[in-house]
Amino acid sequence: DYTPPPYTGPSADEIIKKRKAFLSPSIFHFYDNPLNLVDGKMQYLFDEKGRRYLDAFGGIATVCCGHCHPEVVNAIVSQTKRLQHSTILYLNHAIADFAEALASKLPGDLKVVFFTNSGTEANELALLMARLYTGCHDVISIRNGYHGNAAGTMGATAQSSYKFNVVQTGVHHAQNPDQYRGIFGSDGLKYARDVDDMITYGTSGRVAAFIAEAIQGVGGIMELAPGYLPAVYSTIRKAGGLCIADEVQSGFARTGNHFWGFEAHGVLPDIVTMAKGIGNGIPLGAVVTTPAIAEVLTQRSYFNTFGGNPVCTAAGHAVLKAIDRENLQQNAFNVGLHLKQRLNSLKEKYEIIGDVRGRGLMLGVELVTDRQLKTPAKTETLHVMDQMKEMGVLIGKGGFFGNVFRITPPLCFTKDDADFLVDVMDY
Ligand code: PLP
Repeated sequence: DYTPPPYTGPSADEIIKKRKAFLSPSIFHFYDNPLNLVDGKMQYLFDEKGRRYLDAFGGIATVCCGHCHPEVVNAIVSQTKRLQHSTILYLNHAIADFAEALASKLPGDLKVVFFTNSGTEANELALLMARLYTGCHDVISIRNGYHGNAAGTMGATAQSSYKFNVVQTGVHHAQNPDQYRGIFGSDGLKYARDVDDMITYGTSGRVAAFIAEAIQGVGGIMELAPGYLPAVYSTIRKAGGLCIADEVQSGFARTGNHFWGFEAHGVLPDIVTMAKGIGNGIPLGAVVTTPAIAEVLTQRSYFNTFGGNPVCTAAGHAVLKAIDRENLQQNAFNVGLHLKQRLNSLKEKYEIIGDVRGRGLMLGVELVTDRQLKTPAKTETLHVMDQMKEMGVLIGKGGFFGNVFRITPPLCFTKDDADFLVDVMDY
């Protein structure tokens, strides 16, 4: 029943012209007929004509408690009025309070927080800490993973469409424990052996780190085969390395059954990186590690200008409170289960749906033109997305072949929203 205020800004056509003239050509439109979004309210977005869209992409798995969530907005506004920025070199309660609240969400000795501005930066820092701590350079990541686009993280990212042809040394890409296309099916232990081999043949026998997402997001909502992560963690630790959990997409209650994606695998990482959901759309990232590992950064000076900005950390703190108070993790679990069941029923109805996967409100639907051959249905994926947009539902896409719907809505998504999404997809 929310009616956005009238929009008086430039038209979509004028914005397209400005984008062409002034924005990087690397930025593309999601739809042939680009959307000009001007308002947001919880799980809904509104275009310049006031048309409402159900947002099942969540700004790339970022808006975790809903667009313009009132308490997050309040926290941002009150902190902005009081103090927008000083520097982390002075004291400020917003930063310290949030660090304490965030640390309380992590298990074991993961208690020391470094704030960054993005997921890329968080992963850069995690790799740096692991290399300093171990005195090794070699890092292992998984094929099809995405960890960012700066010098080190682009090396860890293992999808050709995100890699530029510049020197990225020291990262080895292990076989993807992909339960849909992988040669060992769901046998996580068999995939894990590739990491043993990689260490034996590709390194001195010692490594700095292993980095992985619990569920690959950009890679098309790929759940790691069961048993894989514990086996690899043990191998990495034998080789003297640290285990980094990239929770940029799978953190902050998104996967429903746990607050962090790695918890479903029964492992305890040495370093956890996060961004996206942490600020509900405010640019913020963080690395959380143990006191012993954090100590390595005291060898030199390490901080950044904006990381830990009080407005961002006030937003982050409001997000944590909203997740708890509104029971968003339980909601992600319940609605995610219902949505996955409904998507699986669609799979029974339509040959083109090759796979439905994911947990909580991090779900993927892979389209194939041939179920046996698993031929990616890339054009059809774009077509359905476009049709769904016309009918008022926004979903994302990803996967190596660009043929996977990514469903990562705000965690306040309801069962009715899930039903509407499936009905529109089924249309
Ligand atoms: N790690 C994962 C798992 C991601 O999905 C992303 C972004 O999509 C990143 C890291 C990089 O985060 P950012 O885009 O904030 O730099």
